Amino acid sequence: MAPARASSLTGGLLALLLAPGLAAGAQAAPEPLDERTAVFVLGNLQFLLVHELAHLVIGELEVPVLGPEEPAADYIAAGALIRADRRAGNVDRRDGAYLLAAADAQQLSWQRGSARGAPVPYWDAHALTIQRFFQIVCLLYGADPVTYADLPVRAGMPATRAAGCAAEFARADRAISWLLATYGRRPGDGPGAVLDIRYEAPPTLTSRRVVAEMQRVGLIETIVARIGERFRLPRPATVVMRRCGQAEAAWQPAQRELVLCYELVDLLYRMTPRG
Ligand SMILES: [Zn+2]
Repeated sequence: MAPARASSLTGGLLALLLAPGLAAGAQAAPEPLDERTAVFVLGNLQFLLVHELAHLVIGELEVPVLGPEEPAADYIAAGALIRADRRAGNVDRRDGAYLLAAADAQQLSWQRGSARGAPVPYWDAHALTIQRFFQIVCLLYGADPVTYADLPVRAGMPATRAAGCAAEFARADRAISWLLATYGRRPGDGPGAVLDIRYEAPPTLTSRRVVAEMQRVGLIETIVARIGERFRLPRPATVVMRRCGQAEAAWQPAQRELVLCYELVDLLYRMTPRG
């Protein structure tokens, strides 16, 4: 059991974060998000979007997965985001901060569940939120043990686990390379089916503010473009943001929709660690 920790991992890194795109130049209405909120909410939405796209790619291209698919989707999401901007051995700071935000949200969920005595869903297809927290932390530290040297201690990760994180990241990285080499786009491949993006009207002021920020940085557009560059999808689908009645993100193959719910956006906004 990990020690309960009140502090967030994102805070320290934010001080280092040079992200002019996140801080400046917001357009008219609605009021822009402060940087801490933008990193937390968008970081989580990016992680969840890539996690769901991992399900989409696995399902559409019939990628064999040994073991449960949920942890595989988490490893693909974290590994792909770490690789995306890994230049000269360092993880890009914005991607690092975004991933730490995703880790933070898992830990916060665990702490809040524990505080109110919620049942522990050990039977679930997903790993426990506190385990997902340590998975992300381990991959990020393993990818860049210099920049994230103090991360295991800040996260309360025992040295015995931390010692294996470089190998754990290398294994995930190799698996993603295999995925791309085996199922990825090949020279001469046609454009493939289109992954559309649709924003239904955000129902709350919070979701309006978040969508404005997402569109300003091109969050969904950038990720969807990367998928199109890397894979040739056999059938079209749509990434849609909408109100669903519950706070979730899901790839729904029967509907050909990957849904990011506005309730999830509002929940992430409320979860943002303040101060
Ligand atoms: Zn999933």
